[in-house]
Amino acid sequence: MPGNGDELSILGFGCMRLASKPDGSIDEERAARQVRYAVDHGVNYVDTAWPYHGGQSEPFVGRALADGYRDRVKLATKLPSWLIESREDMDRYLGAQLAKLRTDHIDYYLVHALVGDLWDKVEALGVADFLDRARADGRIRNAGFSFHGAGQDFRRIVDAYDWDFCQIQYNFLDEQNQAGTAGLEYAASNGLGVIIMEPLRGGNLAKTVPPAIQEIWDKAPVKRTPAEWALRWVWNHPEVTVVLSGMNEETHINENLRVADQAFPHSLTEAELDLVKRVERKYREILKVACTGCRYCMPCPSGVNIPLCFEEYNNLYLVDNPEGEKFMYAARLGGAVALGKPEFASLCVQCGECVEKCPQHLDIPTILESVVEELEGPDLEKRVTMAKEAFKKN
Ligand code: SF4
Ligand code: SF4
Repeated sequence: MPGNGDELSILGFGCMRLASKPDGSIDEERAARQVRYAVDHGVNYVDTAWPYHGGQSEPFVGRALADGYRDRVKLATKLPSWLIESREDMDRYLGAQLAKLRTDHIDYYLVHALVGDLWDKVEALGVADFLDRARADGRIRNAGFSFHGAGQDFRRIVDAYDWDFCQIQYNFLDEQNQAGTAGLEYAASNGLGVIIMEPLRGGNLAKTVPPAIQEIWDKAPVKRTPAEWALRWVWNHPEVTVVLSGMNEETHINENLRVADQAFPHSLTEAELDLVKRVERKYREILKVACTGCRYCMPCPSGVNIPLCFEEYNNLYLVDNPEGEKFMYAARLGGAVALGKPEFASLCVQCGECVEKCPQHLDIPTILESVVEELEGPDLEKRVTMAKEAFKKN
């Protein structure tokens, strides 16, 4: 880790998608066994957050890291920025998190899920002073932020505070999306450690692989699973500090541990990088919308989050789980996190302002109509309520 000498494992254990029981609650015994197994096999970075598993992830992690495991890992959790209404709230949430996690300090503390206007809000409420003080009195050791916004806001946030690290979504389909490759390089060149989330795009690059994609992977002389290719591609970047994986199956943990042992920066050959490029191109052909996430079309005067609508629409066709995707659409675009403003496709008034800005020449208003048809429907409000329930104060 740049700046502080911590030797972090390149694989981190993400506690957002822990092993669960059929009723959706954490399968505590299995999940704790998995966390400890990973630590016993070299993982020393454990990441959780206030809203994960409806507020149950942090207390679970506190229990899972008993019996001496807490001292063997660097623990990361996050300030739920969308719930913060005052400077006092920040200390209150951190205090509650220390209690939930049964610890006297958080090694890596992040301001969670920033986008541009959410950063403006917490900055105005005094988050810099809060982080300074928490670092000075030892409640946190390193200050960072996780990011889901646009590239230009990422730079702005990197420049706005003396961060130790950041966390970004990154995989071979998201080179131009959110912080992207430019953000990864910018953060690293400014001395920040960079934690990567969503290396498999929520598992979508590994779970249901379309036959046309599998065909390309099968052409490689070295046989690797799609998950291994995707992870190796991320680890090939020397700017990457830790890659988080939300592990909940023993086979995946073992596969990830094995790949982490063998993957190094610049270890992919030119031919292998070319193979990943071909897979990326094929995904873009298969994807329903050829949106690269560049955000040139934004902001929409009616408040539609165009690239996020298209990301969810593409996921609907990549993954065989329409109900799950409809829920994700309601959660991510309905304001369950961020500032609570809906950003749905149905807000589009067909003004056409975005169309000429799109370098991919997408007929954005027409595609948004299909998004409404396939991802909204009469149950949208119900799903938004469920999502808000999952992200509420608990
Ligand atoms: S056409 Fe729709 S999405 Fe595009 S700018 Fe106008 S309201 Fe926004
Ligand atoms: S719709 Fe076009 S301009 Fe907007 S993010 Fe996608 S590719 Fe970029």
